[in-house]
Amino acid sequence: MESIGVLMPIPMNGYLEQELDKRFNLLRLWKAPEKSGFISTHKNSIRAVVGNSKAGADAQLIEALPKLEIVSSFSVGLDKIDLAKCKEKGIRVTNTPDVLTDDVADLAIGLMLAVLRKLCESDRYVRGGKWKKGDFRLTSKFTGKSVGIIGLGRIGMATAKRAEAFNCPISYYSRTQKSEVNYKYYPSVVELASNCQILVVACALTEETRHIVNREVIDALGPKGVLINVGRGPHVDEPELVSALVEGRLGAAGLDVYEHEPEVPEKLFKLENVVLLPHVGSATVETRQAMADLVIGNLEAQFLNKPLLTPVV
Ligand code: NAP
Repeated sequence: MESIGVLMPIPMNGYLEQELDKRFNLLRLWKAPEKSGFISTHKNSIRAVVGNSKAGADAQLIEALPKLEIVSSFSVGLDKIDLAKCKEKGIRVTNTPDVLTDDVADLAIGLMLAVLRKLCESDRYVRGGKWKKGDFRLTSKFTGKSVGIIGLGRIGMATAKRAEAFNCPISYYSRTQKSEVNYKYYPSVVELASNCQILVVACALTEETRHIVNREVIDALGPKGVLINVGRGPHVDEPELVSALVEGRLGAAGLDVYEHEPEVPEKLFKLENVVLLPHVGSATVETRQAMADLVIGNLEAQFLNKPLLTPVV
């Protein structure tokens, strides 16, 4: 398999690169001085693209690679891959479900605690020597707060289970009501937001879910409500979110993802009612290794004519 070209658009993970190097001809696009020339030089050997949540395979890249057989994503989200184009051309697509679910759900709970108990602000308070001048202000209790989840998939469900352990009543919005859970279902996001104190975004990013959290939803969540986004930045209308936080129409937010990341609206930096993370939902050593192993397993299966481990298309 050493002669099979595997194109990686941007750096992702050292272990993944090392293991791909051992098996394939890993082509690092970001190191090429001129990208389109590099692609056209290698287009007849490239049979796989390894993408992630930042760079995948759009129609232009797919069209430029006549021998492309598989796009294997080092992420569960598929929003950076032109799935319709892949289907049309018979190109297989895989992702990394399940192995990252616990980490992202853990982080969602971590964000709820960090926002409500002001963990980051109180850390800054101690480091800044302010404790000697008086006590830290009171915060807000997490246990028992009602949690509404947009998208009761793997991550949504894992977040719900964790929140249940904190005695949080759970409700959700998905395209369809789930018969296997007793959580309260709301047929619209606005109704969900009106009836919970913490709203968690955990759905897939598609054209339908872009800006699923808009001004109406934010206003329904209200000045005491908390928004947690561990999905994708474009799920939230970011200018609306920022103005609601600045104006106090929304209580607080815990964000792992942003609409134009790594750009983050500077107005958020001045606010004490937000906790900002740099898209690290699955970023643990253990999980990134498990994700890399899935990418490699899928590529090996494809080129050995075996069933793919986690096929999407
Ligand atoms: P999943 O099991 O496929 O769940 C996705 C959920 O999205 C499903 O429950 C689906 O519910 C819901 N959904 C799809 N279209 C919808 C729509 N139009 N309206 C409402 N809900 C809709 O995926 P997962 O493994 O839980 O991952 C979910 C997402 O988390 C990923 O797509 C990714 O964007 C994000 N993620 C973020 C990080 C991070 O680092 N922050 C890490 C991993 C994943 P129905 O089918 O019932 O509508």
